[in-house]
Amino acid sequence: MTGAPLSNQRVLITGASSGIGAGMALGFAKAGAAVVVNHFDQGAAADAVVRQILDGGGHAVAAAGDVSNPADVASMFDVADQHFSGVDILIANAGIQKDGAFTDLTLQAWRAALDVDLTGAFLCAQEAVRRFRRQGLDPRRSKALGKVLFTSSVHQVIPWAGHANYAAAKGGVKMLMETMAQELAPEKIRVNAIAPGAIQTPINQAAWGTPEAEANLLKLIPYGRIGQPEDIAAAAIWLASDAADYVVGTTLFVDGGMTLYPCFAHAG
Ligand code: NAD
Repeated sequence: MTGAPLSNQRVLITGASSGIGAGMALGFAKAGAAVVVNHFDQGAAADAVVRQILDGGGHAVAAAGDVSNPADVASMFDVADQHFSGVDILIANAGIQKDGAFTDLTLQAWRAALDVDLTGAFLCAQEAVRRFRRQGLDPRRSKALGKVLFTSSVHQVIPWAGHANYAAAKGGVKMLMETMAQELAPEKIRVNAIAPGAIQTPINQAAWGTPEAEANLLKLIPYGRIGQPEDIAAAAIWLASDAADYVVGTTLFVDGGMTLYPCFAHAG
């Protein structure tokens, strides 16, 4: 796929068996990248994503592993080494919600969300940077030594009642991303994030699964539609490509205007 924006590049995408991660896996493959499709306990779904990529003439392999477990994280990067001789792009995308009113939120639910959404992102990013350094810069692949892209959320800035653990984790991802970007830019490692708004995936089915829920959700989206995984994939491909070589430490909001305080459009 010479000429495609990500030809010769290798991407590891966590949580790529479902939703946004699966959409990014398919999009990155079409953009020319070889894709490591990480999943936790969704082997059949990950295999289906891999099959779709292979059937389309792309390159992909599945890699099981829990992003909050350092040994699992190392082993998914080993899969990238074994199949594609390394990795140029990490997308730390895996995420969960464990919702609850603040005083009902158990320590277990707090830790589960922080473990996957923040600590998992940290562990994967740390392993990616170590591997980028070992590989060295290869201008035939990219102008950068490596790229890290976090899937954050509009809830890195919008407080979210009933979701204190998730919002705290995504707020943490924002500062993790910016601190890494500042620290690693001199090595030509680009670190950025995408903050999706409401994207139609299993994680938020309650928010769009009935006509009433969908109507309520649309009140929060000036652009008038719920986002799709392809909307995030298109932005991620650009951010990971050399077309965005001067983009460092930025969060790209892909949210149909959700962060424009739409409730102020007719009030205030
Ligand atoms: P999803 O539930 O469809 O996908 C989540 C993925 O993460 C799945 O593949 C799941 O298997 C994986 N995962 C969960 N725990 C894991 C673990 N311990 N190790 C490895 N993988 C694990 O949800 P999604 O909407 O595609 O979410 C993807 C990311 O996008 C998450 O970080 C989420 O917070 C973020 N996000 C989603 C929305 C939205 O509206 N859907 C909005 C903002 C941010």
